[in-house]
Amino acid sequence: MPSHKIQFILKNNRQSEIHFLEGEVHFLMSQLLHQMVGRYFVIIDEKLTKVFPCLIDLIQVPTLVLSGTESSKSLETVEKIIHFLHENQCRRADFLIVIGGGCLGDVSGFAASIYKRGITWHFFPTTLIAQVDSSIGGKVAINTPYGKNQIGAFWPARHVYIINTFLQTLDVQNYNAGFAEIIKLALLVGGDLLKVIQADEMPAISKLVILCVEAKLKVIDEDWIEDVDGTRIGLNFGHTIGHAIEKISPNLLHGEAVALGMKVELYLAKCMGKLTFCVQNLDKLLGKFNLPTAFQHYISEEQWPSFSTILTQDKKNETDNICFVIPLLDKAKYASPVQIKKLHLSLTQLKKNLFYDKFN
Ligand SMILES: [Zn+2]
Repeated sequence: MPSHKIQFILKNNRQSEIHFLEGEVHFLMSQLLHQMVGRYFVIIDEKLTKVFPCLIDLIQVPTLVLSGTESSKSLETVEKIIHFLHENQCRRADFLIVIGGGCLGDVSGFAASIYKRGITWHFFPTTLIAQVDSSIGGKVAINTPYGKNQIGAFWPARHVYIINTFLQTLDVQNYNAGFAEIIKLALLVGGDLLKVIQADEMPAISKLVILCVEAKLKVIDEDWIEDVDGTRIGLNFGHTIGHAIEKISPNLLHGEAVALGMKVELYLAKCMGKLTFCVQNLDKLLGKFNLPTAFQHYISEEQWPSFSTILTQDKKNETDNICFVIPLLDKAKYASPVQIKKLHLSLTQLKKNLFYDKFN
């Protein structure tokens, strides 16, 4: 099978390998599952069992079918997974295979991180957002009623198998949502990725995914556990506001909320006098992938009390002020890496900027 492989040794000495594979899903999956050595169990997104009913026939080991939605990132799902592993007498040396999108990877990876103090897991990310973002870097987490990703760990999949043909099964909305994280990464790392994403002609998606994974690996290699002042914090660009929007408007996909979050955060940075990526240029980029840009359509002033409460619970806050992260624009337009700046804004100022100034 044609493939490209990146071997990556994380700073905590846990080794991760990322494999990029091109070819038919059924063929590749049967080859890969056949090659697995040892005892393992599978967790698969129920959506995939409908799109690829043959996948279930391929898997000859105990399998747990779960919903891969944001609401499945819960303690209840973790309990289900732990029960499934226990029922099947999973030992510490056994491993878990997870086939699905970012949410399923997050919750299953988290369960793997705590079951018997941690078992190995391998991930087959099947959505664009999972292939370019959540499968890389080892962050696994679940949500609580108090906010997104409030309980989690750094527990990378030992092998990540990125099969490009899984993307053909995505609907346009889910596919486009993946581009929000690609745009975020491009604005953070600058250089070639930013040029590529701004160009009229885009490379093949399989090439773009490899570029993104390489860029993200560079960012996290500098800062494996997200130090308070490390480089990895930059990956939170768009996510302070994005997570709060996502909680208030659950119909938005994560990528769509991040698109709005980037727009608002760049605007706030501009209000604070910071030289950053031009808001209008971001609009153009987001528009290319039909991503939302009008914050006012999703959050009204009446929703401010719940919106601001969510913002105060963000993990990045160091004081009562709200912390968000933006890429600072260098004088050289395509400088790489771009400098990252943490900004702190009071809730009063934030409300004024969002609802009383002329937000554009
Ligand atoms: Zn994200």
